[in-house]
Amino acid sequence: MDRSPPAPPATSLPGTRPEPTGQRLSVRLATPRGFCAGVDRAIQIVERAIEKYGAPVYVRHEIVHNRHVVERLAALGAVFVEELDECPDDRPVVFSAHGVPKAVPAEARARQLFFLDATCPLVSKVHIEAERHHAAGREIVLIGHSGHPEVIGTMGQLPDGSITLIETVEDAERFTPRDPDKLAYVTQTTLSLDDTAAIVRTLKARFPALPDPHKEDICYATTNRQEAVKRLAEVSDLVLVVGSPNSSNSVRLVEVALRAGARDARLVDDASQVDWSWFEGVERVGITAGASAPEQLITGLIEAISARFDARVIEDDGERETVSFKLPRVLQS
Ligand code: SF4
Repeated sequence: MDRSPPAPPATSLPGTRPEPTGQRLSVRLATPRGFCAGVDRAIQIVERAIEKYGAPVYVRHEIVHNRHVVERLAALGAVFVEELDECPDDRPVVFSAHGVPKAVPAEARARQLFFLDATCPLVSKVHIEAERHHAAGREIVLIGHSGHPEVIGTMGQLPDGSITLIETVEDAERFTPRDPDKLAYVTQTTLSLDDTAAIVRTLKARFPALPDPHKEDICYATTNRQEAVKRLAEVSDLVLVVGSPNSSNSVRLVEVALRAGARDARLVDDASQVDWSWFEGVERVGITAGASAPEQLITGLIEAISARFDARVIEDDGERETVSFKLPRVLQS
């Protein structure tokens, strides 16, 4: 099934075409960009559930943080809710890619709901890691952003008080553990690599026994997209990141681009949100997309740019991703 949403409307009025300006633009596309394996799997879970069980299928929280994806799935028959008490007993419910506190599947089981867990396996890996540290008697620091569903889900794997959330270097400087020799840390999967490294450095300077995770918690998709946008920003006047404002990894890409030297970097849900005055005096534009943004939105953005400017589009030579995750067994046939 084509998982791309319909192309968003161009920014010109219906029936009109924008006047080409003749301004020359070099447009460079980041590689990799857009969908990651966890997002692809989560969307497929909702689609297959609708195919197999019929509509409506309830989805607790936005399946992934992208407005276009959510609108397309809603049109297919998904009903997005924030809590389980909004779901009827007789319809399937899907948990979003960000993961859920343990209390959520427990409540679903108590109500005998049929549920499908679309938590990204790389988020589940962090949950397992946190449980392992807790079982070994370690106090856990979670580096992440307060209020993000992934953080709520990870903190909800363990009893209250087992995990302390640290958001900044200042938090790390102030943090007082119960026992500095029995400490461990895990992180949200979609953080800035550089900001997280600074927080970890601060913690390690204060608590030298602090062990590193066996494998980085910041996921391959976040890492690859941040490295790609850094390369892009070094040779761009303006970087456009396609993604929704509640998408953590998309917002991070804007920050990384600005720090890496782009004169300007903007987050847009699609081409209709571009303010063409951003292009004044710009010769080199870089384009990327967050892990939850469909490629179709990038295509729409390139078309809108090409309609206005004398644009030469080139694709960056970056990491080719081959990661994929299996669907839950019940949806495999
Ligand atoms: Fe999984 Fe990373 Fe994608 Fe999040 S961004 S869904 S952790 S692969």
